[in-house]
Amino acid sequence: MIRFCLLAILVLTLDALAAYGFVVEGPREPAATASDHLDHAPRWGLSTGSMLDTGERGLGGGLEYAIDKSICEMRFIDGSTCAQIEQSLRDALDHWGSGHPSLGFTDITGRVEPNFPLAALADSGQGAEIDFFGATARDFPIFNNASTTGYTLFYERPQASMVLTNGKMSKGPIGRIESADVRFNAGLCYYLDVKQAVDTCVHFPSLVLHEISHALGIGHPEDNVRYNLDTDRLPGNEIPINCNAPAEGLIVSFDYDGAALAHGQDVQGAGRWKRGMTWDDVAARDALYPDCRIERIERALPRWGAFALAANGTLGEARLSKSKDEAEAEALATCQTSGDTCRVVSSFNGCFAFASNAKGAFGHAQASRSGHARVDAVLACTEAGEDCRVTHDFCAYE
Ligand SMILES: [Zn+2]
Repeated sequence: MIRFCLLAILVLTLDALAAYGFVVEGPREPAATASDHLDHAPRWGLSTGSMLDTGERGLGGGLEYAIDKSICEMRFIDGSTCAQIEQSLRDALDHWGSGHPSLGFTDITGRVEPNFPLAALADSGQGAEIDFFGATARDFPIFNNASTTGYTLFYERPQASMVLTNGKMSKGPIGRIESADVRFNAGLCYYLDVKQAVDTCVHFPSLVLHEISHALGIGHPEDNVRYNLDTDRLPGNEIPINCNAPAEGLIVSFDYDGAALAHGQDVQGAGRWKRGMTWDDVAARDALYPDCRIERIERALPRWGAFALAANGTLGEARLSKSKDEAEAEALATCQTSGDTCRVVSSFNGCFAFASNAKGAFGHAQASRSGHARVDAVLACTEAGEDCRVTHDFCAYE
């Protein structure tokens, strides 16, 4: 029996204040603890050869993927060719495999017909191990919601136990992923070239990076925070995974990084592509696919932003700064006034919003993602006056 798991893109949760963390999609039955959630989480398993050679689905020979021609029929506003679009998919996959000796990807487009198994029921007709499609709302009604940019399903087979990528046995029952299908909303417009960015269209490579996280068994960190894991309470730093015992040393963390590839919101822009994998993304990958030979690659540290304001209304801002001090200095430097003194209103790692009204009341807030910061800023301003609206908002990492 194969069951499938739906991964929705839009869920609202509340921000909490603790360290950042990662989460895996996890077993279907709610786990008692976050460690159990990780130990029994579905994932791809080892196999001796490629699927094409042996018919066995797994990591051997790389995860074999096929790109459906519908991908090239999607609307790319920058005139990207089919070859360029396919290359951007390959690049995104390579990103997830970077430095990992047992997680690779092999293009078998043209050798296997992409297919999505309602084969939940059968072993054939499942296409490649990972298939990529463009789909309209008519093919795939979930895309009636235009804010759903992509959607990934994976199909797993329950196992009493399984050998993991570190050579050790799983702690009891676990799901073995045998197929994943990634769909992109063909009702939307896309682009590859960052210089031709249009707000109403989607940066395709950034979206692909996100969807691959699901195809590997990684979940949205903002969706079910009680299963989020980290090793400490510090935001944005490396989460070292014990390759012999991945759940060891991990504690529940109720926060998440809005800049993580696995984060399910704010997918339109090119930010994910520019930033690459965060330490949280690396930890999620390495906890599901532990391997003592993984090469440690330096990842981008969380960036600082700051917002400065003078009494006459002059504003200054900084983003992508390497430290709190640097961000504050830059915000003050950009807040040049004649006469008034600028002061730093806030310095932060995530997102910031500033709200005010016509009578001079104002409020501000910071949060892991922009939507929450905006809501909180209006609430803070409303305590001082009515008719508040957001006049300024940005994220440190964009
Ligand atoms: Zn998602």
